[in-house]
Amino acid sequence: MTAGPNVYDSEPIPQAARAEIEHLLSSGDLFRYTASENAPVTLLEREFATMLGAKYALAVSSCSAALFLSLKALGLPRDAKVLIPAFTFAAVPSAVVHADCIPVLVECGDNYRIDLDDFEAKLTNDIRAVLISHMRGHTSDMDAIVALCEAHDVPLVEDAAHSLGTVWGGQNIGTIGKIGCFSFQSYKLLNAGEGGILITDDDDIIARAVIMSGAYEHNWKKHNASPSAALDAAFDRVQNQLPLYNQRLSNLAAAVVRPQLAEVPRRVRDGRTNHDYVAAKLQSTPFLTVPDKLEKELRAPDSLQFNLVDFSPEQALSFQSAAKSRGVSVQVFGLSTDNARAFWNWQFLGETPDLPKTREMLSKACDTRLPARLHKADLDFIANALIDAAADAKGLVQAAE
Ligand SMILES: *Cc1c(COP(=O)(O)O)cnc(C)c1O
Repeated sequence: MTAGPNVYDSEPIPQAARAEIEHLLSSGDLFRYTASENAPVTLLEREFATMLGAKYALAVSSCSAALFLSLKALGLPRDAKVLIPAFTFAAVPSAVVHADCIPVLVECGDNYRIDLDDFEAKLTNDIRAVLISHMRGHTSDMDAIVALCEAHDVPLVEDAAHSLGTVWGGQNIGTIGKIGCFSFQSYKLLNAGEGGILITDDDDIIARAVIMSGAYEHNWKKHNASPSAALDAAFDRVQNQLPLYNQRLSNLAAAVVRPQLAEVPRRVRDGRTNHDYVAAKLQSTPFLTVPDKLEKELRAPDSLQFNLVDFSPEQALSFQSAAKSRGVSVQVFGLSTDNARAFWNWQFLGETPDLPKTREMLSKACDTRLPARLHKADLDFIANALIDAAADAKGLVQAAE
């Protein structure tokens, strides 16, 4: 077993966070509503909204909480049907279930993106919302999706948990739908350990989401630096009308994230360069293929997905173990019995539908981490290990035949 590059450790938290954390530790001011204004969580919301060009942001305890609050803020009735891609993380259908709604799964193709024919066929009149998950940062055809949602007058929510920094046709991912949701969990671009944030331009949605996130009494007044009459009216309409789910973020988490915002352009740029470098190398073997991104998409990856070409399930398993013994951990999404990104493992949904396209993709789609902090020697190591492991797997099984 060779030791490969460490792809799990995060980057260190910028030094600037320490002074703010020290200050919070000495004052004990960890709750966002203790101070009358300018709590770190509120400042993070303003800075994040400005960075993405959104009117409002609400920081919460996770992206899952942001997704849940988005559906609640849309006022969806119990048992409302919500379209989601079948290729996503189990947290996404879970957030739909948590919001008392019913997820309807849409097929995804070999390039990991939503199958638009299936999307259109399933966007029937009983669908009350569309939740697009940009899984691993892969962006589906948002022009087509927006046009279909508008034609059906159905609100669009973006799960951009793992897509911060991705741009579609010049527009930031997360600002295309009515609401965009992001994660601060340690494997995402901004790391607070845990946390999430939603953005929107809609007065009523932000008012509803803020209150339900746990802004009891008139704490919503501490959220916005420049309240407008329209926003105040939106809050007045829902004061005392909504449950408080208390999914707030702590000042400590906000203090950890804020100095990382300046790092976003560098992390995006290096992540993309690293990804494209390894992807180009993998194209040199006939055994592996990296699907093209869509034309209008500018990606911000911190991991690499690629497909095995004509591997039997046994060859796919032997590829995984050959890569591991060469020092690189790679997972075929559909091969383990508990992968949280394989829809048939979402057994909390009851019966999962038969989705042959997505199942076929998951049986050959591989996932390996590729954080922005890696250097060229690490990238060469990973690319070569994957290429050699593919040859091992093909050769070994052929030799045994
Ligand atoms: C990480 C992730 C989530 C969940 O984010 P949490 O902050 O851990 O709740 C949801 N969707 C996608 C696509 C993710 O990558």
